[in-house]
Amino acid sequence: MNHTTSSSRRLIYILLLLVIIASVTLSVFMERTAHNIRRNETPLLNSTIPQLRYLGDFESAVLRYQLAFDKRFTDSITPDRFQFLESMGRSEIDATLAQLRPSLGDGPELGALRDGSQRIVQMAPEFERYIGRNPAAARAVLIKMNEEVKRLRLRIDDMQQHVQEEIVDSGSMANHAIGWITGLVHVFDVLALVTCVFMMYHVRARVRVEDELSHQARHDPLTGLAHRRSFEARLDSLPEVPHVVVLGTIDRFSRIVGGFGHAFGDRIMVGLAQRIRGAAERSGGEVFRLDGANFAILYRMACEDVEFAEALSGLRDEVRSPYDCEGHEIFTTLSLGAVSFPLHGETPDTLLRNADAALQAARKAGGDQLVVYSHQLNAAAGERLDMESLLRHAVERNELELHYQPQQALNDGGLIGFEALVRWRRQGKLISPAEFIPLAEESGLIVAIGNWVLEEACRQISVWQAETGQRVVVAVNISPRQFAAPGFLAHLEDLLATTHVDPACLELEITESVMVEDAESAIALLHRLRALGLKLAIDDFGTGYSSLAYLSRFPIHKLKIDQSFVRNMHAVSEQGAIVQATISLGHSLGLTVIAEGVESETQRAMLSNWRCDEIQGYYYSRPLPAASALNFLEGSLQLQAA
Ligand code: C2E
Ligand code: MG
Ligand code: MG
Repeated sequence: MNHTTSSSRRLIYILLLLVIIASVTLSVFMERTAHNIRRNETPLLNSTIPQLRYLGDFESAVLRYQLAFDKRFTDSITPDRFQFLESMGRSEIDATLAQLRPSLGDGPELGALRDGSQRIVQMAPEFERYIGRNPAAARAVLIKMNEEVKRLRLRIDDMQQHVQEEIVDSGSMANHAIGWITGLVHVFDVLALVTCVFMMYHVRARVRVEDELSHQARHDPLTGLAHRRSFEARLDSLPEVPHVVVLGTIDRFSRIVGGFGHAFGDRIMVGLAQRIRGAAERSGGEVFRLDGANFAILYRMACEDVEFAEALSGLRDEVRSPYDCEGHEIFTTLSLGAVSFPLHGETPDTLLRNADAALQAARKAGGDQLVVYSHQLNAAAGERLDMESLLRHAVERNELELHYQPQQALNDGGLIGFEALVRWRRQGKLISPAEFIPLAEESGLIVAIGNWVLEEACRQISVWQAETGQRVVVAVNISPRQFAAPGFLAHLEDLLATTHVDPACLELEITESVMVEDAESAIALLHRLRALGLKLAIDDFGTGYSSLAYLSRFPIHKLKIDQSFVRNMHAVSEQGAIVQATISLGHSLGLTVIAEGVESETQRAMLSNWRCDEIQGYYYSRPLPAASALNFLEGSLQLQAA
C-alpha cells in the first residue's frame, strides 16, 4: 500500500518536473523567435520603408523639374518663374537624393540615380539657350530630357518593386514566426492548465489529509468522539455562561471486557458511544470520551433546569436498553456526576474535581444513578482520605486482628475449621471489614493487609496445632486485587516454607470477580495454588459473574453459597430453589458446598435436607477472637471424643 503510494507520488513529481522543463524550453523558444522577428523588422522599419518613401519623393522632384521645362516651352510660365522653379527643382532633387543616402549608401544604386538626375539637370543651360530663339532645338532638348526622365523612372520603379518585395518577404516571415509563437503559446497554455489542475488536486488532497489529521488529533479513534484533551480545551474556552459538566462512567464495563474479550468490549463501546452521543446531542449536549468507559458531557443549561433532568433521564434510558451484540444481550447502566457553573465551581479544575466527587458518589451508591454535586460530598471524600491515611499505618501499629468464625459439617455436626475475618481496632473500637476493605481495595493497601492476614492465619494454625495437637483448617479471604498482585504466589510459597504450615490447613476464599480482568491467567494461577496443596473455595457464589463455563474450569474444592440466598430461602421459594440448584451444581462438579449466613435451625434443617455439606453462621457461632476460638475448638474436640 505504502509502496504504491510512494511510487505513484514519484511518478507525479516526474510529470510535474517534465511540465516545468517543457514550459521553460517553450518560453526560451518563444523569446528566441520574438528576437528574430525584431532583428528582421528593425532594418525594414529603419531603412527599407523610408527608402520606398524617399524614392517616391525623388521621383516627384524629378517630375516637377521636368514639368517646369514643359511649362516654359508652352509659355505657361514667365522666364523668371521658370528660373525660380528650375533652381528650386534642382535643390529638391539634391535634397531627396541626400535623404536616400542612409538607406542606399554610396553604392551603385545611389550613383545611378545621381548620374541620371545630373544628366537631366545638365540639360537646363542648353534648353535656356534655345528657348525663345530656336524652338526646334529646345524641343529636341526637351525630348532628350523626357527620355532621360523615363529611364530614371524605370530605374526607380525597379528599385521600388525590389523594396516592396523585400517588405512582403519580411512580412510573410514575421507572419510565419507569429504563427509559431501562437502555436507555442497554446502548448504553453495547455501545460499551464495541466500544472494548475495537478496543483489543485494536490492541494485538495493535502487539505483533506490535514483535515483528517486534525480530526484524529482531536478525537478518540475508536468511538470518533472528541477526546480528553479536546474536552479540557473546550472547558477552558467556554464563555462565562451557565453550563453543566457531567462526568459519566459505564458501570462494570470491565466485566464485559473480562467476560467477552477486548474486541467485543470495543464493539460494545462503539455502540454505547453512539447511543450516548445521540441522546446527549438531542438535548444540546456535547460528548467527549475521556478514557476507558469514562465520558464527559457539556450542557448549556443549569442543573436546576427541568430540561437538564429530562436530558439525563433520556440519556440513562438510552444506555439502559439492552444491547444486542453477536447474539449476546448486554445490559449496561450509567453512573453520572454533575456540576453547575458557576454554582459548584468557577474554574475548570474545581468543576472537574467536584464532578468527579459526584461521580464517585454515584458509583459508590451502586451505580445507575445521577448525583449532582453538593458540598457534603467533598467532606465525605475528605473523611475517606483521612481514613485511608490511618489505615496505611494500621498494619505497622498492630491495629489489625483476626476473628475466627467456626464452620460445621452437616452430616455429624462436627467442627471442620474456621473462616478468618479481619477487624481493625481503632481507639478501642472494632471497625468492620465492610467499612475498610473496599477502601483498602481501591487504594491498593489491600495487598499489605492481605499479606498480614495470611501470615497471621498461618501463625494461628501453628499455635493451635502446638496447643491442641490438631491440624485446624483456616479459610482466608483473598481480595481480587491481592490475587492479581504480582508477588502473590511467591509470598504464599515463602510463607508456607517459613511457617511449615500444612498447605491443606490453609483455604483461600476467592470471589468470581477474579475472572473479570483476565480469566485465563486467573485459572492458571489457581492451578498453581492447588498444586501447592492449598484448598480453594469460591466465596459469595451466585452474587457475581456466575459463568458456569469458567466455573467448570476452576480447579477449586468448595462453593460458598452467598448469605443473601440463605437469608430468605425459607420465605422466598425462588431463593430456596437457587440454593437447592447451587448445591446440586456443586455436587455435580465434585465440589463441597458450604452455606454461609445460617442463623436459624429452620435454615440448617432445610440445608441438611438438600444435602448441603457444611454451614457457617451465627446459628453455629459468631466470629470469635482467637482465644475464644481456641475454647470453641477444644469444646468441639471434647464433644468428638465423647
Ligand atoms: P465474607 O467473606 O462473605 O464473610 C462473611 C461475613 O458474613 C462476615 O462479615 C461474617 O461476620 C458475616 N456473617 C457470618 N455469619 C453470619 C450470619 O449468620 N448472619 C449475618 N448477618 N452475617 C454473618 P464480616 O466479618 O463483616 O466480613 C465482611 C466481608 O469482609 C467478608 O465477607 C469478606 O468479603 C471481607 N473480609 C473480611 N475479612 C477479610 C480479609 O481478611 N481479607 C479480605 N480480602 N476480605 C475480608
Ligand atoms: Mg469469606
Ligand atoms: Mg461470603
